[in-house]
Amino acid sequence: MESEHKPRPNPEPASARQTHGFQAEVRELLKLMIHSLYSHREIFLRELLSNASDACDRLRFAAIADAALLAEEPELAIRIDADPSAGTLTITDNGIGMTREEAIANLGTIARSGTAEFFRSLSGDEQKASQLIGQFGVGFYSAFIVAERVEVRSRKAGVPAQAGVRWESGADGEFTVETVTQPARGTAVTLHLKADAREFADALRVRGLIRRYSDHIGFAVRMRKEGEASLEYEVVNQAKALWTLPRTQISDEEYRQFYQYLAHDFADPLAWSHNKVEGKREYISLLYLPARAPFDLWQREAARGLKLYVRRVFIMDDAEQFLPLYLRFVKGVVDCSDLPLNISRELLQQDPEVEAIRGGLAKRVLDLLARLAKDEPQKYATFWKEFGAVLKEGIAQDLPNQGALLPLLRFASTHASDNDPSVSLGDYLARMQSGQERIYYVIAETLEAARASPAIERLKERGLEVLLLAERIDEWVMGQLETYEGKRFKDAARGDLELGALASDADRQQHDAQLKESKGLLKRIKDALGERISEARLSERLRESPACLVLGEHDLPERMRRILAAAGQKTPQARPLLEVNVGHPLIRYLDGLTDPAQFSELAQLLYEQALLTEGGQLANAPEYVQRLNRLLVRLAAPQGAVC
Ligand code: ADP
Repeated sequence: MESEHKPRPNPEPASARQTHGFQAEVRELLKLMIHSLYSHREIFLRELLSNASDACDRLRFAAIADAALLAEEPELAIRIDADPSAGTLTITDNGIGMTREEAIANLGTIARSGTAEFFRSLSGDEQKASQLIGQFGVGFYSAFIVAERVEVRSRKAGVPAQAGVRWESGADGEFTVETVTQPARGTAVTLHLKADAREFADALRVRGLIRRYSDHIGFAVRMRKEGEASLEYEVVNQAKALWTLPRTQISDEEYRQFYQYLAHDFADPLAWSHNKVEGKREYISLLYLPARAPFDLWQREAARGLKLYVRRVFIMDDAEQFLPLYLRFVKGVVDCSDLPLNISRELLQQDPEVEAIRGGLAKRVLDLLARLAKDEPQKYATFWKEFGAVLKEGIAQDLPNQGALLPLLRFASTHASDNDPSVSLGDYLARMQSGQERIYYVIAETLEAARASPAIERLKERGLEVLLLAERIDEWVMGQLETYEGKRFKDAARGDLELGALASDADRQQHDAQLKESKGLLKRIKDALGERISEARLSERLRESPACLVLGEHDLPERMRRILAAAGQKTPQARPLLEVNVGHPLIRYLDGLTDPAQFSELAQLLYEQALLTEGGQLANAPEYVQRLNRLLVRLAAPQGAVC
């Protein structure tokens, strides 16, 4: 076996035919495409046309610095030849082209980041595989979905005809390259179609696909005129950059098709927003909300951002400077009138113009989301399921837009029967009881644990709604929130419950009486637990549980401390308060214990249980188990009932 990408030791000149092995990932991808992708086979055409269009875009861009590159053939265009008798389909562009070295590197490896992640996310489920392949953007290799052999002839713009390259592969793990004379600038990809894919050599079928998938690429796509052996070509697509047309001239279907082309997605987008800004700052934007999260949404280095054009000239893919990080799921195009054509990523980062556009685009996306939430709640629920956790980052990242973000949040709640996050803050406000001044929420490891949290027992008993949260980011997000429509947010597991007018005089009297009675007990508990707690106090939260831990308003929760510690950040451990439910039989039993050792043992158990309940970790689990077992043994002994 020869090594990957390295030519066999070859005594012949470098121009001679060489055989190379595909990179292992490419081999895997090819296998997957050939064996798993049965539906949507026609996407290969979209991918190859997209490459041809990119090649034209790139040459137009290179010609800004060196006009001579375009001189021999100034009109950039794409041609498609379908030959049913030979069973071939050829896609030819006169764009930037490739040198021999570029062909070896570009058509033998996958350079994209996230490749490993992509393969990891494949589960062997074919349906899912084909969706993922779409998201991954299979690009050139999709040719092998329909072709048993693919031949590429290319000449780089600006190099002599003799320096052309011919690349060929039968997808059997290898490809060959040789230097050839290639009179025309650009690239021609010829697909030798498999027997069951001959339909793609039918010109009518191909025209239909172009109209469907690639109508709005910015260059003319030409095919032979219909009719007997016609040699004349005609343009078969609109050849107009879609975003430059007025909204009234674009159908919904065209918007959807453009999205699929742009995002390499099989699915329709959830919604889009197309705008032209005129005046001091001029730009056009077409922004889409995908219906599905990409597999690399949480990868730092994943490509994100918009396709950037300056006055219709393509400048770059993934221009991430045009949207804040928390809107990284948005796909689309931005076409700016006032940026220089030679703008680089570095310059984009510093450009005040770009910053202003980013602000404008973020508003557009938030408006679009607000409209979707109002008019199409079902679709918004889909959006939230896929991207809600990302959007939440905005609460902390984008303070100026917090007001627009708050109504977009969705929560699970004690007032919803399942754990679907379907409750908005507006819903919560509408259900608030008279006299209620706080928006209560509780955060736990899971939504089930949040729903069962002792900290909200009293609130639940009173029919007060509590929002339930369980995502890693929630502690951080909720920490940033102060009020919504004048009502303060209140973590039900911290400080006092702040029931305010909701607590009746009778409640207060009962509390005072209990306090008097339990002073001694609370002191004994504190003495038994020592430094582990800051204080033992009478609980206003508990109904069914004997005890729970409560943090101070500004203490760092144990969960958060562990996340920070895992990231290497040392933070002090907060000392919680132990709240005790004096009405609970176990606490009454504790109160009656006269043996200090037994008292201390049960007090510790109650503390440890409270710690476990809130998802904390025991400092010494074996000791806890021994303590519990001693108690159980006493319970089991014939004479020694515990209660
Ligand atoms: P992607 O287009 O997402 O980078 P592809 O697999 O489609 O991935 O293509 C790999 C690379 O091959 C491209 O980035 C480009 O450099 C090169 N390439 C493919 N098709 C063409 C073409 N028609 N003209 C010039 N270069 C091309």
